[in-house]
Amino acid sequence: MNRSVDTTTSVGPLTAGPDWHWRNGFHSLGAEFHTELPPQPLPTPYWVACSDSCAELLGLPAGWQTRPDLNALAVFSGNALWPGMRPLASVYSGHQFGVWAGQLGDGRALSLGEIDTPHGPQELQLKGAGLTPYSRMGDGRAVLRSSIREFLCSEAMHGLGIPTTRALCITGSSMPVLRETLETAAVVTRVAPSFIRFGHFEHFSQRSDSDALKRLADFVIEHHYPECRDAPQPYVALLSEIARRTAELMAHWQAVGFCHGVMNTDNMSILGLTIDYGPFGFLDGYDPAHICNHTDRQGRYAFSGQPNIGLWNLHALAQGLMPLIGAHHTDAVLEALESYKLSYANAMRRRLRSKCGLTTAHKGDAELIDALLKQMADEQTDHTILFRRLSTFRTAEGADNSAVMGLFHDLQFRERWSAAYTERLRAEHSDDAQRAAAMNRVNPAVILRNHLAESAIRQAQAGDFSEVQRLLKVLEHPFDESHDTSADADFPPDWAQHIEVSCSS
Ligand code: AMP
Ligand code: MG
Repeated sequence: MNRSVDTTTSVGPLTAGPDWHWRNGFHSLGAEFHTELPPQPLPTPYWVACSDSCAELLGLPAGWQTRPDLNALAVFSGNALWPGMRPLASVYSGHQFGVWAGQLGDGRALSLGEIDTPHGPQELQLKGAGLTPYSRMGDGRAVLRSSIREFLCSEAMHGLGIPTTRALCITGSSMPVLRETLETAAVVTRVAPSFIRFGHFEHFSQRSDSDALKRLADFVIEHHYPECRDAPQPYVALLSEIARRTAELMAHWQAVGFCHGVMNTDNMSILGLTIDYGPFGFLDGYDPAHICNHTDRQGRYAFSGQPNIGLWNLHALAQGLMPLIGAHHTDAVLEALESYKLSYANAMRRRLRSKCGLTTAHKGDAELIDALLKQMADEQTDHTILFRRLSTFRTAEGADNSAVMGLFHDLQFRERWSAAYTERLRAEHSDDAQRAAAMNRVNPAVILRNHLAESAIRQAQAGDFSEVQRLLKVLEHPFDESHDTSADADFPPDWAQHIEVSCSS
């Protein structure tokens, strides 16, 4: 059921903007794709944090946050618009926790439009900008706590080289917002070439609106997958390409220990980006069964199951595309889906090999790496610290590798695996220093551990945003060796075990 929302509220005067030409692809797609409406103003807005790197991506001028002519604080808190912005909420549907959920849509996100940048077109969205016709039972708002998590993780993932939506800034407000406790409102400005989800396709497919479905697919091909246009079966080619990107994304997540808490089809990007940071988590100890979302009681989205969930979601997307593809091409669709498994396996093998500093493929590599992962799982060895320290491994006879191998309690394993690894490294004439440098470029020293985010959130809730800013700077360069000796790269404190991340945001 759609909520009755005033779509005509004024957000105050238009303010001068940067010299940007705004457009919004959803306007061209048609009325059934969206509702045009302004953001709902937030009282007493203030800056929480900004990403200089994302501002640079957009080409914002120096000092943009404070330039009176730009009035950026008002714009990014939903209190003003720049000329040319025509905000809208888009409609989509999706499968949530494996069950068809029907219509969802941007319940609290508003697309401000797209601009051209030297890095291609980028869309800007306000998340937490108030009620939309798709808010269902929600209040259209986001709280400071979850906004800080989304902001930091978006930029952290970018720093890790993982495809993701970006985050330009967070603004906060004194407006109270009720979750488990009373919190305050915030808005994250997200940035991506597109926020289109698998669920956008499912929406029109389930409604048997083949015309809108075709418009959407043609739009996505034209703007994001032009190479599919001239394929014999453009929509099958589109599915294949999305499958390939999703497989790459899952391998990225697995390699760094990132766990998305809500891999519903409405949270799957058609560009293969990490999107919708809610109850996500990075592994501390390596636990393949880890469930990062406190409300996911069945463990549908447990860490090691995520690559399979990626495939499940692609099946839902394929089902959504079937009216365009036609039943007589089912074999090609199954082949496209099947290709996901190979893409994922190859991507994961490649990543694990480079995490272990192996530059060539040898028989027995899988066994060597599996043995390491199995022992890590048995002992819940810290995932990030283990791989980071693995770069200190030395192959010389009698080398002291206790800094890394000492992370394991099992003495027999230490000896056995050290010997096998040494032999394997020698087989490719691996140079210790070169290997260490290469490994430190793929194994981060710092990730956004729950306790780091939690500390920044607690300080921010007390009015001090300096830890958010500091952490942002650290996470922008997660491979920097300067972090190795810092507390950010250390084991999580005991209290981290008791942090529970729920869906509420
Ligand atoms: P999520 O699980 O956060 O991806 O959200 C699923 C759906 O619920 C999406 O359609 C969201 O826009 C919507 N939603 C989540 N939180 C809120 C909220 N506070 N107000 C309105 N809609 C929301
Ligand atoms: Mg979502």
